[in-house]
Amino acid sequence: MRFCGRFRLLLLPQLAVVVVLFAQAGAAASPVGAYSTITPEGIGAHIAEIQGPRSGTGDEANRAKLNEVAAYIQDSLAADGLMVSEDPVTFAGRTFPNIVGTLTGTTCPEKTLIVGAHYDGVSASPAADDDASGVAAVLEVARVLSAQPLQASVDFAAFSFEEAGLVGSRQMAAAAELADRELLGLINFDMIAYTCDEPGCQDYPEGIPPPRPTGDFVAVIGNTASHSLLESFTSASASAVPDLIEFPLEVAGNGETLLDVRRADHAPFWDHGYQALFVTDTADLRNPNYHLPTDELGTLNLQFAADTANAAAATVVEALTADANGDGRADVCGDVTVGGSAESPQPESSVESGTDESSTPDAVFLAILAAAGVAVLAAAGAWFAVRRGSR
Ligand SMILES: [Zn+2]
Repeated sequence: MRFCGRFRLLLLPQLAVVVVLFAQAGAAASPVGAYSTITPEGIGAHIAEIQGPRSGTGDEANRAKLNEVAAYIQDSLAADGLMVSEDPVTFAGRTFPNIVGTLTGTTCPEKTLIVGAHYDGVSASPAADDDASGVAAVLEVARVLSAQPLQASVDFAAFSFEEAGLVGSRQMAAAAELADRELLGLINFDMIAYTCDEPGCQDYPEGIPPPRPTGDFVAVIGNTASHSLLESFTSASASAVPDLIEFPLEVAGNGETLLDVRRADHAPFWDHGYQALFVTDTADLRNPNYHLPTDELGTLNLQFAADTANAAAATVVEALTADANGDGRADVCGDVTVGGSAESPQPESSVESGTDESSTPDAVFLAILAAAGVAVLAAAGAWFAVRRGSR
């Protein structure tokens, strides 16, 4: 039995990562195109207002800036006509609220999809990519979607004290479960505006050989339970923003064996049983300015951030308007989850091939992970055989 335990331990980290692939072409006409109006200028204008040292555990100047940013977020959401609410979050004797702007659903307002990002930063950094870029995306998605309410509700959330240990998001996720809230999921932006073009500029978590040398893709990471939301993102993104290169990545369980994928505000939502996506430029695996004084607006790729925000806006619209039986009532207002299925999600295991899928980062990433998995299985098998033989 102990061997069995060792065997599983040895395998789990490698098997924890499953890349999910979806066909990128042939998406039907959808209403999402109408929402693809987020521009680099719009994203940049928000980041210019938000950037600056603003740690909730920092000095007085940091805390004053954080209060200013909180007010800016509230004003922006209110200007869109959303119902704005605050929930105080206290850490180390300081209180900064989670801020939520609600776009109330017209058919099933009790069901809510959250679009979120954290508005605090680390004290020594302007924190433009981390995570003014994410907040800018939240505000822009709120602006474009607020013009036309959907059948279910959307909460646009700014989390506090992320850098202190996901404090605000933990509070929100725990409160949601306690209140039995019908959350359809969370789309969480954390660092979505840095790209790099020099081969080798993109790093990967230990054990994963680089499938793509350049950092020009957005990683969209879900856990097993978030399969259908991840599928919605990939489908809507391909349809609305075909130029955006996306890495959809599905991790087993709640990602416990690949801690890099649990480093942001989506993780508490996974832990409380909700669907959630981590949308990211991969942070310090790509951005050399991570948590440094050099994380400034001028270093960012605002077109990339706008593309990512548009993909998320399209995802929200597609997820909340899908109506499989055509009865005029969105599927999410019935008994089904986002993505149109009431059953447990079935992980996809094969490439739905287009003409030249082998050259896409998805396919390369899958191939490398598959090879790594086979190699690990072989090594583990050999180790197991040797241990058995030596007894
Ligand atoms: Zn962050």
